[in-house]
Amino acid sequence: MADSALGHLNRAQYDSDAYNMIKWLFIAKPGQDPNDRTRISKVRDVFEKINANYRRETMANAGRNDVVIYCDDSRYKETGKRDRWGRPLYLDETTNQIVLYRKQVCHGNDEWYALAVTNNVQWENEDGTRRDLNTQIQICTWFLDYIKSPAFTTHDELLRSTIGRTVIKGAEKNWGFRGIDAFSLPDKVLLHEMTHGRAAWDRYYGEERVKGLADVRVPKVAGFPVLPLPAYGWQFARQLASFGKDVVGLHGWEFDAADHNADSLALFASACKLLDHTWSRRILQDGSIELIGV
Ligand SMILES: [Zn+2]
Repeated sequence: MADSALGHLNRAQYDSDAYNMIKWLFIAKPGQDPNDRTRISKVRDVFEKINANYRRETMANAGRNDVVIYCDDSRYKETGKRDRWGRPLYLDETTNQIVLYRKQVCHGNDEWYALAVTNNVQWENEDGTRRDLNTQIQICTWFLDYIKSPAFTTHDELLRSTIGRTVIKGAEKNWGFRGIDAFSLPDKVLLHEMTHGRAAWDRYYGEERVKGLADVRVPKVAGFPVLPLPAYGWQFARQLASFGKDVVGLHGWEFDAADHNADSLALFASACKLLDHTWSRRILQDGSIELIGV
């Protein structure tokens, strides 16, 4: 997916489908030119870093620019202790950190279910100083069960499946599933999580070190009286591009702009991947998928 995205972004002249995707997901405001390469430079940079750092499978010890993908939560050991609000504390044996694991969004709440969670972990030394370790991506166990199930085939199946039905319903609320949201979902989720990794983005914003892209929240705008939810999925990514901060590229980049939003990049890359298929398909403005040339 990252390869496809770079392939389309690096063309001397964008093909019309890539042009539209840039316009819909990043450079969406009136008067802005989707062909302006400066504005898209941060998106390109993140895909290049993902390609450079995550391409090779590492068999030895993982370094600070590697990502380790966890499919279960066996690294969390109960400590028998609780924090002052009575929440159980766990020891992450790979990082030596005490964590509030049960609080993690994988477990869901009324508003939000995550499919995976990324953590740029650090080792805490005895003297309190910290050292960067590899990035962890935790695939949520419900999501893993779901993608392993025979029901996971098409968008329709996704909505009709009885596997983790209530959980899917929770996720649906966040996602508002359009065609492109369900396309190659496991790959897209992984790419989404990789953009949260330190190796994809690690820069200072003033004094603050910013590791990885964020789940940028959709700004509250007239006509969309929603709570400021993270811009997951096509519909919300489009709103973010239209009403969020301006996308300006690498210089003067903004936390709240579409090019700092993990899912905007994942959606762009999966759309590029679709274009590169033998039976290529394009994304339409409403996020649905159309076969090209039939
Ligand atoms: Zn995310």
